[in-house]
Amino acid sequence: MNHDVIISGAGPVGLFLACELALAKCSVLILEKAEDPHSPLKQLPFGMRGLSAPTIETLYRRGLLNELEIHKQLKNPHQNAKHGPRRQVGHFAGIPFHDGDIDTSQWKYRLPSSTDPSLLSEMAELESILARRAEALGVEIKRGLALTGSHQTADGVTVQSGDRSFKSKWLVGCDGSRSVVRKMGGFEFAGTEPEFTGYTTRVDIADPGKLSQGRMVTPTGMYLQSQPGYVVIQDFDGGAFHSAEKPITLEHVQEVLRRVSNTDVTISALHIATTWTDRARQATTYRNGRILLAGDAAHIHAPLGGQGLNLGLGDAMNLGWKLAATIQDKAPEGLLDSYYTERHPIGAQVLDWSRAQVAIMRPNPDSRALNAIFRDLMNTRDGATYMAGRVWGIFTHYNLGGDHPLAGHSVPNFEFEDGTRIGGLMHDGHGILLDFDMNASLKMLTGEYGDRMKYVSGRAKEQFGLSAVLIRPDGIIAWASDNAPDCSEFQKAAARWF
Ligand SMILES: Cc1cc2nc3c(=O)[nH]c(=O)nc-3n(C[C@H](O)[C@H](O)[C@H](O)COP(=O)(O)OP(=O)(O)OC[C@H]3O[C@@H](n4cnc5c(N)ncnc54)[C@H](O)[C@@H]3O)c2cc1C
Repeated sequence: MNHDVIISGAGPVGLFLACELALAKCSVLILEKAEDPHSPLKQLPFGMRGLSAPTIETLYRRGLLNELEIHKQLKNPHQNAKHGPRRQVGHFAGIPFHDGDIDTSQWKYRLPSSTDPSLLSEMAELESILARRAEALGVEIKRGLALTGSHQTADGVTVQSGDRSFKSKWLVGCDGSRSVVRKMGGFEFAGTEPEFTGYTTRVDIADPGKLSQGRMVTPTGMYLQSQPGYVVIQDFDGGAFHSAEKPITLEHVQEVLRRVSNTDVTISALHIATTWTDRARQATTYRNGRILLAGDAAHIHAPLGGQGLNLGLGDAMNLGWKLAATIQDKAPEGLLDSYYTERHPIGAQVLDWSRAQVAIMRPNPDSRALNAIFRDLMNTRDGATYMAGRVWGIFTHYNLGGDHPLAGHSVPNFEFEDGTRIGGLMHDGHGILLDFDMNASLKMLTGEYGDRMKYVSGRAKEQFGLSAVLIRPDGIIAWASDNAPDCSEFQKAAARWF
């Protein structure tokens, strides 16, 4: 075998997964279809992506957060005047929620690495940081080579790219929504069909005064002019235009914009345009033998509320250490399968979140009535806090069983008396046994796992009543104890994950 893993696709998910595998000393080759990683759709303002709390934690735990030039949520100039100077920090189905309404004190274990639970970053910048890191860790990236086929046997995968072939032990499809790996790898992609085609465009408008500023809901859909010339349109055509894969011409965009805005606005130039839909589909399994899926290759949904990148990076963080342990024959029984059992439900929740938004955006009286009720609810403190918690991934956790309420949750960013924070000790991707009470038995047991589990002891400024915490390489709490730790429970958890 030439490589441990071939990854198809050098998008953010493929790149981050490659970094995780290389960090664990696996050899990785990425095949990327596009010759040039630069695309205007990945740059401002189109390439702006909202990062959720789990993504911010993930980047922080690998020492990448500081590298990323983070853009704080911009003040929305089109806020409803009634809301005064409140800052819009997210939306559900286009209904804004504002920072002053959110009760973050309810989330005491979260928001560890940043004062802001939701940040914006540019796709182009994120991808170039991840590509640099991947290459520094020894990942080989071949651009301009599309995966065109694959064949797996009991001990490896042969990957085709035109007339070239490559061999590896595993193949991971991170090749986006139209994934070739998924289509050729025998995966079922189940879900619901779209109701609209969305357009993201940069245009010159001859008579801009004919369009209103901000987000306008109309009898046939919605249009939004976020800044002059940047127009987003939602046309409830059943997704027909996007599905037809026709070229997006100036004439077509003008016709749609005129119809949706109910004006005779004239577009004098079309610079950039892309379409998307609310089709919501998810692979019914994320693994077929030696072939795995992650990111948009495994699940697609409308970009409403911006969740796809966050979901995909969560897949990569979850899969990386498990696949590496499997390759290195260190994985306990069932470890790799837990990638699917943990991540599939999180993906399903995001698909439903997207469907729920479409249900109150449809241009019909029922949806408008429901939309008005949601608007009222989101103007309450509890409503805004709930929405922000969902959109920012605050409630995301895995059901790992066990007695402790924190098992399966992201570890709080404990700060030690010398100012070190636990997240800062995770750059190497190893597990950690965090022992606040310096228990000699726990220390000895941790030693059995070599460098896969580090022993860290010391008093933290805030310990939330805990005495010891076992942290997986992805920052998830595998086991925790409030009192004198039960070593046999610790051993069970350690054996399950390490
Ligand atoms: C308008 C819009 C706004 C969005 N806003 C947000 C947001 O605010 N927050 C958020 O979290 N998400 C957002 N998303 C979603 C997010 O951009 C995607 O979920 C994310 O890019 C998925 O990453 P990925 O690496 O899985 O796939 P992609 O980014 O699609 O990358 C896949 C890569 O695979 C390559 N490839 C394809 N086929 C092959 C092949 N056969 N062989 C080799 N390589 C191949 C492609 O060239 C590409 O580089 C938005 C999406 C859109 C369309």
